[in-house]
Amino acid sequence: MAQAISRRNFLRGGLATAAGVAASGVVLPQAVRAAGGQELCTVLDLSKCIGCEACVDACRETWQATVPDPVNPMPKPFPSRVPTQDWSKRKDVSDRLTPYNFLYVEHLDFEHKGQALELHVPRRCMHCVNPPCANLCPFGAGRVEKNGIVNIDPDVCLGGAKCKQVCPWHIPQRQSGVGVYLDIMPSYAGNGVMFKCHRCLPLVKQGKQPQCVEVCPEHVQTIGLRPQMLAQAEALARQKAQADGAAPDRWRDYVYGIEENGGTNTVYVSPVPFAVVSAAVNQAHAQAAPGQGKGRAGAGKQGGKRRKAGFAGRPPMGPVNNTMESAENLTAALVLAPLAGLAAGFTRLFGKKQPPSDQPPQEQPPSEQGGQS
Ligand code: SF4
Ligand code: SF4
Ligand code: SF4
Repeated sequence: MAQAISRRNFLRGGLATAAGVAASGVVLPQAVRAAGGQELCTVLDLSKCIGCEACVDACRETWQATVPDPVNPMPKPFPSRVPTQDWSKRKDVSDRLTPYNFLYVEHLDFEHKGQALELHVPRRCMHCVNPPCANLCPFGAGRVEKNGIVNIDPDVCLGGAKCKQVCPWHIPQRQSGVGVYLDIMPSYAGNGVMFKCHRCLPLVKQGKQPQCVEVCPEHVQTIGLRPQMLAQAEALARQKAQADGAAPDRWRDYVYGIEENGGTNTVYVSPVPFAVVSAAVNQAHAQAAPGQGKGRAGAGKQGGKRRKAGFAGRPPMGPVNNTMESAENLTAALVLAPLAGLAAGFTRLFGKKQPPSDQPPQEQPPSEQGGQS
């Protein structure tokens, strides 16, 4: 398939570009750097994405080594019904989210208005404006930075996975047998650490662009201040709607992320309505056997279950409600806020110093336990 050949070629080209651009030290636009405290937002123009996965490679090369290997033997989880999740032996998996893979590309083939189309959708944390993962973390490990980046502090997280449960896309992924719980009371609390895209927070703090933005040979992503990015997304969506023959007031059908979960700082714009994209994603998840998607990783080692819509580690792209709008979650957030602060202080105080998330961890012996979704 011509597109597949082009994807492979661009993989090489993208990596070369990654090295070149990284060496050139591209930084955030001056206006963005000057505006500390304002939320950053990304717009992804899916018409441009060729599915080369240079972004995935750049993310993995930059951040995978910051996720530690588990201790061996791994403590039994507490409570015992909590599953052990170990991806340390399968760091090569890149066609879904894992603790060692913060970004993957969903490759879609579908029909729209009688035409066969191919679309590639990079997926990672959406960086919600009012994120339930951070608001409802009982340990205070989730936090929204002043620039809008939603980060899970690996020095505080006990791996309870509340963040994954309340995230509409179930983005955070647990690695068992790592983190501060090992130094507190491993038999009675904790199970590991939750990991996800932190929007290259350590680089952004230095005024640099996220790696996946910087290396993309097609300039699929743009990063900037939220108001400008929303305006850009709307203008782009209006163009897409017009090109697709839709009424001008239907432009919102061509964006994803402005309203979902109460608003996010990741906005996708597509040449076809997102109802069509969502159906294609669901179909891809239902049809592909785990690890045998079109992604080049070809992991194929993730058990025999067939994928269903919202397959673990591969988020759906349909409508989602605002999680923080429910009275139950609002109350929980109010109650948790002071307790979470105390818990965060406790883990910082009693946990040993962990390697900072922007530096490679110390080498640790690998675990023998198998992984799961
Ligand atoms: S976003 Fe850019 S780097 Fe990533 S797959 Fe698409 S074209 Fe390639
Ligand atoms: S997408 Fe999920 S993990 Fe990311 S900020 Fe939103 S709720 Fe949190
Ligand atoms: S923003 Fe950074 S951490 Fe997030 S997916 Fe892109 S490269 Fe990975």
